[in-house]
Amino acid sequence: MRLVLVGPPGAGKGTQAEFIAAHLAVPKISTGDIFRANVSQGTPLGVEAKRYMDAGQLVPDEVTINMVRDRLAEPDASDGFLLDGFPRTVPQASALDKLLADLGTALDIVMELVVDDDEVIRRLSGRRTCRGCGKIWHVEFDPTSKPDICDRCGSELFQRDDDKAETIANRLVEYADKTAPLIDFYGAQGKLVGIDATGPVEDVTVRAIDALRSYGG
Ligand SMILES: [Zn+2]
Repeated sequence: MRLVLVGPPGAGKGTQAEFIAAHLAVPKISTGDIFRANVSQGTPLGVEAKRYMDAGQLVPDEVTINMVRDRLAEPDASDGFLLDGFPRTVPQASALDKLLADLGTALDIVMELVVDDDEVIRRLSGRRTCRGCGKIWHVEFDPTSKPDICDRCGSELFQRDDDKAETIANRLVEYADKTAPLIDFYGAQGKLVGIDATGPVEDVTVRAIDALRSYGG
């Protein structure tokens, strides 16, 4: 099965991607992993991407798409894959359709993890990170016994910039602007499957796997 997973920040996409890919016995392919692999192996695309990243610039779509193309052409992806973090925009989605057509295949399903903005803010803004061991706690869902002190190592907790309300609001606006149009794009292709991504992680996984069963996954 060839699957794309989309959802806003804080939807639990990375976690669900692991479970769903394991269930389908397909590789989980994230652009982060592809970037790191290309950069560490010093491929021509990796060298090019690193030049942009070192300059603090966005890696152009063309470079990203070529990396995705190389990765999807590897043998382990021939019977299926789960893409996490790509495509993020409609132009990237069009490019993905084209490169899959070149490989003689197409996407089967685009799964959207549906979480409303209030829930995203509640999940992300409650996160606290330990300065000592790096463990991530949550003021509501995974609290420490003493406020702002890590139960594991006794160090102080802090709120990462990424988890501050203002940053979260900006990320949600960016998601709405760029990624949400993907939902319409794939909806028009009849490939979109929405999953309620609220509640416990295990419940979301069950809903996702149930939905895939009806597509033979
Ligand atoms: Zn700690």
